[in-house]
Amino acid sequence: MGVTNKRTLTKTRRKTRDIDQIKADLRSPKHLAQFKNTKAPEDLPGLGKWYCTECAKWYESEHGLAVHRKGKPHKRRVKQLLEEPYTQKEAEAAIGLRTDNQGPNQTERTADNEITMST
Ligand SMILES: [Zn+2]
Repeated sequence: MGVTNKRTLTKTRRKTRDIDQIKADLRSPKHLAQFKNTKAPEDLPGLGKWYCTECAKWYESEHGLAVHRKGKPHKRRVKQLLEEPYTQKEAEAAIGLRTDNQGPNQTERTADNEITMST
């Protein structure tokens, strides 16, 4: 997932849902319903009738949503959602932390113990 412009991502005024949240939305309708329930329909464009799940955006009309779904930002987002999200596990693996107790550190330590016992 390439971050082209970090400033647009860190801005909070027009904050939308994060990729991992949208992934969870696509996986479970309950998760999405929970998010939608936090918004009052009368505050949303088009009374919250036309929603693009992938982009977490509401539209004024069915036409607006249809046009959006054909557009570049939507297609870019769909492509982004196909990739696996970056996880904490991946980050730890990158610096050599493991959770399966068979890392190189473990074997090294037992070898040390054997040396001290023989002397
Ligand atoms: Zn969209």
